[in-house]
Parts: sequence; C-alpha cells; structure tokens
Amino acid sequence: NTLLEIQNLNVHIEEKEILKSFNIKINQGEVHVIMGPNGAGKSTLGYTIMGHPKYEIKSGSIHFEGEDITEEKPDIRAKKGIFLSFQNPEELSGVTLENFIRTAKTAVSSKPVRIMAFKKELHKTMDNLGMDKQYGDRYLNVGFSGGEKKKAEILQMLMLEPKLAILDETDSGLDVDAVKIVSQGVKNFKDKKNSLLIITHNTKILEYLHVDYVHILLGGKLVKTGDASLIGQVNKNGYKEFFELV
Ligand code: ADP
Ligand code: MG
Ligand code: MG
Repeated sequence: NTLLEIQNLNVHIEEKEILKSFNIKINQGEVHVIMGPNGAGKSTLGYTIMGHPKYEIKSGSIHFEGEDITEEKPDIRAKKGIFLSFQNPEELSGVTLENFIRTAKTAVSSKPVRIMAFKKELHKTMDNLGMDKQYGDRYLNVGFSGGEKKKAEILQMLMLEPKLAILDETDSGLDVDAVKIVSQGVKNFKDKKNSLLIITHNTKILEYLHVDYVHILLGGKLVKTGDASLIGQVNKNGYKEFFELV
C-alpha cells in the first residue's frame, strides 16, 4: 500500500535549486530516515511535502494515497493525513496550546470534536509525555524551552493521528530523559500502523523503532538508500564516502 510517492521532484527557493530529481516511496506502516549534512535540503523536503508556498516545485510530482497533491494547499494535505513537526516551532501569542490543537483537530477531522472527550485525551497524552496539564493553557510555544516546544510538537502529532508524520529534528535539543519520552511517544504513534519520515542526526530515537529505510541526502540529491545499518556507518565515518556518489 503506497502512501507517499515523490517522483523526479525539483524544488527551488528564491530561484535557487535545492532538491534535485528527488524520488522516494513510502508504504503504509514504514519508517524512513533521512540523514544528511547541514544545508542538504532535509527541511526543504519536509516543507515541500507539507506544501509550504515558499518552496516552488519546478517539476515532478507528489502523490498521497494515489492522489496527485503536488498543487494542493497545506490545509488539504493536513486533512488527507500528513503532519510536519517543525525543526524550529514558532511561538503564537494569543492562542493557547489546547485551543491550537483543538482547532487543528477539528480542521482535519471528519467528525465533530467533542470538547470533554478531547480534553480527556489531551490530558492523558500530555501525562504520557511528562507535560504538566497547565501547558495547555499557555500560549503556543511562548516561553517554552527548546525541549518543551519539541514535546508540544509530538503532542500535536499524537492528538491529530496523521497517516504520515514527518519529524524534522524533533529529537534535537532534548535532554536524555526528554529524548526517551519523545521516542516512546513516537513509538506509540508508529504502533498504530502509521508511517514516519524522520529527519535526524541522533540515533536514540531510532533505537525505539524498526527502521525500514535510510536515505542519504547530499546537496539536494538522494545519493544512497539502505537499511538501518547505514545509520551506524554515517555515525562512524561521516558523509565523506557518500560524496563520491553525487
Ligand atoms: P537542511 O535541513 O538539510 O539543513 P535546508 O532544507 O534547511 O537544509 O536548506 C537547504 C538549502 O536551502 C541551504 O543551502 C539553505 O541555505 C537554503 N535555504 C533554505 N531556506 C532558504 C530560504 N528561505 N531562502 C534561501 N535559501 C534557503
Ligand atoms: Mg539544518
Ligand atoms: Mg533542517
């Protein structure tokens, strides 16, 4: 069951080519990991899949569950079941975390969201993530530490239950205990047959999951796809051996 299929994608930002003939296919239930040096285009890939208007698709296509979503707006993609956790989550003053998630949940759900049931589920999920309930009443990410922002992202993912979650360095900047909690949260999400595209430099989060494929991105090109053993190889030797493949 193919969930996401990207074919020959060329993506530009401000007239600069970032992703070059990029291809990937993610089936239902699979875990894919993208690794690559800084500036390789990893975040660009996440934003492009989500449909951020700044990223201009010059050629190629994105299909989700067989439907062409190349030209779709981000809200439509979210409704179809795609979720992106940002590398640098933004602060939103005036909107509480709880209201933000409830609004998003209402937007992506086909059924109405019942307030009491939503609150119960939210509090249970926050508890699992070691987040105080009080955070629900605080403005989104305002005054949150780096780790708290990342936890809030995972909370959104767990509450929205997308079919495909793209995690952009969600595990960076977390202390050891927070990495464990976040990893456990991601594992619980995965157990429900969802798919994951994980952008990471860390290995801790990957110890909690069975990784199906690892892709190496260099200069906007996918130069190598392999199994989980690539992670150890990169951590030991860096990316230099892959530069020959560009
Ligand atoms: P990564 O996430 O792998 O570190 P990015 O996708 O953030 O890489 O960036 C890929 C390339 O695109 C980099 O060369 C970066 O400088 C460039 N880039 C990213 N965002 C912008 C932007 N808004 N304007 C211009 N260049 C950008
Ligand atoms: Mg970067
Ligand atoms: Mg990035």
